[in-house]
Amino acid sequence: MSLALEQGLSRPGSSSVRCLPTFVRHMPSGKEQGKYLALDLGGTNFRVMVVELLGSPQKQPLITVRKYPIPVAVMSGSGEELFDHIALCMLRFLSEIQLHPENMALGFTFSFPCEQSKLNSATLTQWTKGFSCSGMVGEDVCALLRRSLDKQGLGGIKVCALLNDTTGCLLSCSLRESRCQVGLIVGTGCNACYVENCRNIKAIPGELEGDMIVNTEWGAFGEKGEMDFIRTKWDRVVDQASINPGQQIFEKMISGMYLGALVRQVLLELVAQGLLFQGVNCQRLTLCQDSFETRHICEVENDPLGENDRCRMAMREVLGHNQVISPLDCYAIRLVCEEISRRACMVLAAGLAGLLRRLNLKDAVIAVDGTLIRCHPLFTLIMAKKITQLMGKGYKFELRLARDGSGLGAAIMAAVQANRDE
Ligand code: BGC
Ligand code: MG
Repeated sequence: MSLALEQGLSRPGSSSVRCLPTFVRHMPSGKEQGKYLALDLGGTNFRVMVVELLGSPQKQPLITVRKYPIPVAVMSGSGEELFDHIALCMLRFLSEIQLHPENMALGFTFSFPCEQSKLNSATLTQWTKGFSCSGMVGEDVCALLRRSLDKQGLGGIKVCALLNDTTGCLLSCSLRESRCQVGLIVGTGCNACYVENCRNIKAIPGELEGDMIVNTEWGAFGEKGEMDFIRTKWDRVVDQASINPGQQIFEKMISGMYLGALVRQVLLELVAQGLLFQGVNCQRLTLCQDSFETRHICEVENDPLGENDRCRMAMREVLGHNQVISPLDCYAIRLVCEEISRRACMVLAAGLAGLLRRLNLKDAVIAVDGTLIRCHPLFTLIMAKKITQLMGKGYKFELRLARDGSGLGAAIMAAVQANRDE
């Protein structure tokens, strides 16, 4: 990972880890103020928000948020349909809270790899995480959003900034904690960003002084075979069944979109060997690709040791409601879940250690967020232990849960950019 980061920075386009410049060059002062709109697209839900920043790090920003599902058909429809859907949700939201958006600044958290040349223009380079809308790769995402907002009569909204969720996470943490230098997301996908000296980022045209947040897009690590030495046959099956085979290999060993599918593959093999679910109808597990979800792993591992209640409940969801699961089966299922989530923690810790070595900080604060890291009972703990082991006992670091990063980060960037435009 250290090498891949180094190469991504110094020879743009040559590494699996792309190290994309974000053009975010200043950390928030905490004095940002005003009401901003924010959109968050890229995970399980699509969210629309109004964020009011109150001008002081001591005052909690006020957030009003609505979640909207993205229908599967929209995730794989045309880009125009996707953005029309987003604009329509925005319209509904605004009328619900009776807010007139004319001249309001909007920050857009768009959690996919984008090439940026400035804060408010970003070209999508590829889809990840189950999205595959047509006609969008190579397009300016901000321009597409503006066009759809316009169609809904929302052309008065100023699309000021586009940012990755990792950047939002880092920014929202640094509202209160100036030492924060890394943002990590472990949710549907996995990615990290960090603060780098502009001199080292060769993809930036011209010469810029100071620092910039770099979006590593490290989920793609392994696309050049770097992870082959530990990939299993189950990893390959899950990869092949995904919408982007051969891509996002690191992410596929770690994030919420894939861990459930990995567990399912192992369980299917145990079933085939006659070692699991004897006398149980496994049709649903066998036939339905998404029957075992990552949230089921979290439920299984949330059982107190020696108890099976949550495991049984989870497996009834997976297999069908009249299925009876034996204690021995529960034990085996838990073992499989633990192995797979533990491996995710360790692989991730190794990646982080690679990044932390490069940063050479004495006292690192890592902002973390994402559904998996929040719902899994031991993820952070195991990861922290492994980081300590890899970095040495004397190394000081802190994993700090940063909430609402997508909303706060977007609002902060909208504030910064809106002030600059005036
Ligand atoms: C995307 C990243 C994003 C991460 C977490 C990955 O699939 O490529 O841009 O930060 O998921 O949401
Ligand atoms: Mg998210």
